[in-house]
Amino acid sequence: MPSPAPDAARRRAAAECLLEGMVEAGLDLVPPSTLQAQETAPDTGKGPGATPEMADTDAALATIAASIASCQKCVLAHQRTQTVPGEGNPQARLMFVGEGPGAEEDRSGRPFVGASGQLLDKIIENGMGLSRQEVFIANLVKCRPPQNRTPQLDEVVACSTYLKEQIKAVQPELIIALGRPAAHFLLDTTEAVGSLRGKILKNPQGGPPILVTYHPAFLLYEPARKSDCWADIQVAMRFLGLAQ
Ligand code: SF4
Repeated sequence: MPSPAPDAARRRAAAECLLEGMVEAGLDLVPPSTLQAQETAPDTGKGPGATPEMADTDAALATIAASIASCQKCVLAHQRTQTVPGEGNPQARLMFVGEGPGAEEDRSGRPFVGASGQLLDKIIENGMGLSRQEVFIANLVKCRPPQNRTPQLDEVVACSTYLKEQIKAVQPELIIALGRPAAHFLLDTTEAVGSLRGKILKNPQGGPPILVTYHPAFLLYEPARKSDCWADIQVAMRFLGLAQ
């Protein structure tokens, strides 16, 4: 029997205790003024009981992953150990999109399993009160860039078909773009993350709206930004009706 969802007070207490400095003491749950009160996710009928399309979506995601596994469309194919297509709930209301796999991800074939992945887990589980299995996690590119360099535009463009197909299959209500490359590509902009973050932004491609926040890897180097990230996550929670 599933455990009841934590109420806001429990979730906030857990976040304050467990996010290792991400939550500033006394930070309230009021979103930034940029989030309009009526700016909430549409009712898409997704939820624990709404699973008739899950098999179809699962099959679509498996087909996409199979295409990725044999893909040679860009130079990143040459040095990969394995592809990292992404993973998560085919009915996810929330999709995280990062930049590309790192060393741990290249070894395991799973997204966000290294140090930055552990921080993302804390954001999802301790901060949002969700499980990793409830969201979908993907990257712009599905093969590890050498030395963890930023993926180049031609690589991102070559790989973008897969991400677009994943978004179309899952149909999340919100995408959280983690860091500059994901934000710039998804929003077709060159604006700084600092000015994009914390707002529910219209998707220029007509898909789910997008919220930008810092990449967990950046937060590991700049822990002072964790409170900004937590504020962004609260905007997402309000949008999804997770914050009370
Ligand atoms: S990064 Fe994407 S486009 Fe490039 S080889 Fe891997 S799957 Fe194909």
